[in-house]
Amino acid sequence: MSDYNWCHNPSCHTIETQSRVRGTGDNKVLRTMKIKVGRYNYSNDNNPNIWNYFCNQNCLMQFLFKFAQEVSNIAPVREPKETPIKVRTEKYESYRYRWSGNAHTREPYQATRKIIENSS
Ligand SMILES: [Zn+2]
Repeated sequence: MSDYNWCHNPSCHTIETQSRVRGTGDNKVLRTMKIKVGRYNYSNDNNPNIWNYFCNQNCLMQFLFKFAQEVSNIAPVREPKETPIKVRTEKYESYRYRWSGNAHTREPYQATRKIIENSS
C-alpha cells in the first residue's frame, strides 16, 4: 500500500494557496495536495479515515457537491429505518421572557419534555 494519496477533490489543484505552489522560475503550477496516509490515525488502527483521501473539509465538501448522486448510489436509502424506543414525558419548570414595553420580564411556566429511555 502506498504511503501517500493525492487529494481526491478533482479541483484541489485550482485552489490558490501557497502550499500548492510547485515548480521553478517561470514554470510555477498549483498542484493537487499530497496526503500522508494515517496522518490523523491517533488510535493506531487500520480503520478507514476520510482524511486519508481529502486534504481538508473544503476539498471534501467540493467532492461531495460534485459527486452527490454517485455517492448516494453507493448505499441507496429508499425507505426510512426505525429504532424502537421507550419515551417518558416529564414536566419541568421553565421560563419565558415577555417584553413589557421597556424591559423583559422572566416568567416561569410548566413545560414538558420527552425523555428517551435507555433501550439497551
Ligand atoms: Zn484537496
